[in-house]
Amino acid sequence: MVERFDADWEVAQAFYRRIEADTGAGLLSIGPAVYAFASVEQAEKWRSRRPQTAPAPHLPSCYRTPHGAAQAPNAGRLNVAAFLDATHATWRDEGALMSAKIDPQSIHASEDAVELVGRQLRAKRLVMSVGAAAVDWPQTAGLPWALARGELLTVRLPGVVETRVVRGGVWLAPLGEGLFRVGATYDCLGLSAGPTPKGRAWLLERLSALIEAPAEVVAHDSGVRPLLAHRLPSSGWSQDNPRIGWLNGLGSHGVLRAPRLAITMAAEAGAG
Ligand SMILES: Cc1cc2nc3c(=O)[nH]c(=O)nc-3n(C[C@H](O)[C@H](O)[C@H](O)COP(=O)(O)OP(=O)(O)OC[C@H]3O[C@@H](n4cnc5c(N)ncnc54)[C@H](O)[C@@H]3O)c2cc1C
Repeated sequence: MVERFDADWEVAQAFYRRIEADTGAGLLSIGPAVYAFASVEQAEKWRSRRPQTAPAPHLPSCYRTPHGAAQAPNAGRLNVAAFLDATHATWRDEGALMSAKIDPQSIHASEDAVELVGRQLRAKRLVMSVGAAAVDWPQTAGLPWALARGELLTVRLPGVVETRVVRGGVWLAPLGEGLFRVGATYDCLGLSAGPTPKGRAWLLERLSALIEAPAEVVAHDSGVRPLLAHRLPSSGWSQDNPRIGWLNGLGSHGVLRAPRLAITMAAEAGAG
C-alpha cells in the first residue's frame, strides 16, 4: 500500500509540475496538513506509526481538539478547477480538445482504427474515462461498481485564519478570501439525490465539533465517486478489440492515481 502510494505520488508530482511548466499555471501546492484526533486511541495509533512526527501544531484557539492534533509536513493539494482550465485552454488552442456527449453505442472499432459514428472522428485508440457514468456504458457496466455519493460545502468562517488543510471528522480546505471547502459525506444509496438537507446538517455538525466559529454556507455541492468494490482503480484494453480501453475506479484518489495510470495507458497505446 505504502509502495503504491509512493510510486503514485512521485509520478503525480512530476506530472503536475510538468503541466505547470507547460501552461504557466500554479496548480500543485505541497505544505503542512493538520490532523485533529477523534480519540485517544487514534492519537496513539498515529504516533506509533510516525514516531518522528513533529510536535503538536499551533492551532487558533477556536479549534476544538480534546484528543490533540499532529501535523504532516508535506501534504499535496491540487487546484483541480485551475488544472482543468489550464489544460483545456492549451488543448483547445492545439485543436486537440472536443467537448461533446458521446453515445457509447456510437463507438465502432475495426482492426485498424476506432471511430465515433456520426462525428467524423477516427483514432488509433480510444480510452473511456467517464467516471461514474461508466456504470451505464455496456463496455464497463460489468465492473464491480460500488459508487459513493459525496456532499461538500463552501463556507465562510469569520475570524478563522488558516492556510493548512485540517482533518478531523471532516476535512477543511482553505480557498482564500475567508472561504473554506468542507467535506465530505459518504453515501452508497440515493446516488442521484444531489445536495440534501441531511448532508448539509451532517457536515455543519462535524464542522462545529472541530471549530467554534459561525459558518455561513456559500455553496452546497455533491458528486459521485467512481468507486469499485475492491477500492482499486481499473484500467485496460478490451479483449474483443484492444483498440478500446478504459480507465476508471479512481474513487476518492483521482488526483493521486490518475497520472500514473494515464501515463502507462498512453505508453501502451503508443506502442500498439
Ligand atoms: C465529494 C467528493 C470528494 C472527493 N474528494 C477527493 C479528494 O479529496 N481527492 C481526490 O483525489 N479525489 C476526490 N474525489 C474523487 C475524484 O473526484 C475522482 O477520483 C475523480 O473525479 C475521478 O476522475 P474521472 O475522470 O475518472 O471521473 P470524473 O471526474 O467524474 O470525470 C468524468 C468525465 O466524463 C464526462 N462524461 C460522462 N459521460 C460522458 C459522455 N457520455 N460523453 C462525454 N463525456 C462524458 C463527465 O462529464 C466528466 O467530465 C472526490 C469526489 C467526491 C464526489
